Amino acid sequence: MLAYLDHHATTPCDDRVMTAMEPWWHQQFANPASRLYRPALEAAAAVEIARGQVAAGLGMPAEAVIFTSGATEANNLALKGVAEAALERGEPRRGLITVATEHRAVLDPMGWLGRHGFPLTVLPVQPDGLLDLQHLADAIGPDTLLVSVMAANNEIGVLQDLAAIGQLCRRHGALFHCDAAQAVGHLPLAMADLNIDLLSLSGHKLYGPKGCGALLRREGVALAPQQHGGSQEGGLRAGTLAVPLLVGLGKAVQLALADQAERSARLTLLRDRLWAGLEPLEGVQLNGHRNRRLGHNLNVGIDGVDGQRLHRLLRSELAVSSGSACSQGSPSQVLAALGRSRRQAAASIRFGLGRDTTAADIDRALKVVSAALAELRQST
Ligand SMILES: *Cc1c(COP(=O)(O)O)cnc(C)c1O
Repeated sequence: MLAYLDHHATTPCDDRVMTAMEPWWHQQFANPASRLYRPALEAAAAVEIARGQVAAGLGMPAEAVIFTSGATEANNLALKGVAEAALERGEPRRGLITVATEHRAVLDPMGWLGRHGFPLTVLPVQPDGLLDLQHLADAIGPDTLLVSVMAANNEIGVLQDLAAIGQLCRRHGALFHCDAAQAVGHLPLAMADLNIDLLSLSGHKLYGPKGCGALLRREGVALAPQQHGGSQEGGLRAGTLAVPLLVGLGKAVQLALADQAERSARLTLLRDRLWAGLEPLEGVQLNGHRNRRLGHNLNVGIDGVDGQRLHRLLRSELAVSSGSACSQGSPSQVLAALGRSRRQAAASIRFGLGRDTTAADIDRALKVVSAALAELRQST
């Protein structure tokens, strides 16, 4: 059987989440916007419970939550929504700042805005994947409209210093958006304490269903809707609410909060065991900061081996990712930003541990990787 160690790509939907979602597909299928009869009101009430559960996960009031189809949509709504709202009210600030290691769901809408009249600065990172705060301090100014920095990196798990970034943004009057798709449900995040104005999250990264997520918005942050067609979500996101998915999302956030500390501590130990086994192997190097990373993440590069051959040897036993953007074999922007070559990125392995990962999975991974490396070294 395949050991699944790719929890940054997606997580399995928790059985308890499936159970919570179940009635909302068929018995209780009414549209929450219908309002005139009891089943519709019940569906609307279920959505509001989910809203409260999601908001509580970030220490925010329920009104802060705008449900979306996932973190990609939440990022697009945050970034384009802020830019368009600024245009509409004649706000002179236009500058946007982000970081080279962001997810494409931030970099691509930012790039689009950059080509449409919003000067964009993409900051580099240090070799350990952390943003040099001095670079941000130098880039931010009275023209800065918004800064977008992720909480936890989806490839190398690196945790940026959100508190310091939030303070800088606040001091300069810039909005702070945070893509927290890999962080919510995995580590505590108090949005207000960190001065985060907008935060994106995704259901399927925290043991919830795919196709749902949310943008959380601090009160008073002006946002223009990016999807028109109905008055759902305060007019900010038109479209019939996906009641079963949202019920699942709320439940998943609630469950993730309940075991977050214990799970993170347990997976950190397993991750350290994995690293302790890999570190002595020839040519192995760590991608990303040693400690300032998610407890369930490890990303290693292996010098002197061919990435395609390596992953071909792993794939029947381990579900893991490489550092190549899947289609073209070009290095991921994250590993490229750390200074890794195309060849190094291809010969990288991302491990993402999860709720069901056991010590046996880790030992199995160690065995499979060691055997693959021995085979590759022998044949070269
Ligand atoms: C998965 C992920 C996304 C995209 O989320 P979807 O819900 O799949 O659209 C965005 N940002 C980060 C950091 C992610 O890990």
